[in-house]
Amino acid sequence: MDSQIFTTYNSEETRDLGKKIARWFTLRSEATKGKVICLYGELGAGKTTFTQGLAGGLGIKKNITSPTFILMREYQTRNPSTRNPLTLYHLDCYRLEKPQDTAGLGLKDLFNNPDNIICIEWAKKIKEFLPEKRTDIYFKNIGEDLREIKIIQIG
Ligand code: ADP
Ligand code: MG
Repeated sequence: MDSQIFTTYNSEETRDLGKKIARWFTLRSEATKGKVICLYGELGAGKTTFTQGLAGGLGIKKNITSPTFILMREYQTRNPSTRNPLTLYHLDCYRLEKPQDTAGLGLKDLFNNPDNIICIEWAKKIKEFLPEKRTDIYFKNIGEDLREIKIIQIG
């Protein structure tokens, strides 16, 4: 999977795509090197909806909302296929004023830990801090409930 484009017709389909990607990340050994998922797209494009599906696919039962005011949330779970402990970090950089404001989060260590999956909304705001190996996902509202979702493996 280097680059793939999907069209979803409602939010449930976007959640299902998130679930599918979660499975892909936890089943495929070659995916272990790219567990940073960067989400791009305007407000309402479907980034949080996708993350809800991703979390569900990782066995996280809690309802995922956008961590807009606290920057990052953490969810403990287990890899559905290996049962090893796994942590999902959900970041939302929408309100971030400057990339340096993420300094206290220790992002580099989080990125390097193979037992983490890090999902970043508004990733373009911290582009200088993103790792070389990652998954970029672009969300585009193409009218009413239609969304075009492009997934690109980088590095
Ligand atoms: P973002 O996090 O990108 O700002 P959200 O996921 O919070 O966006 O919101 C997307 C909104 O669009 C939700 O209200 C959702 O119900 C609606 N929606 C309609 N169609 C879709 C679709 N195909 N995929 C995702 N969300 C959709
Ligand atoms: Mg959001």
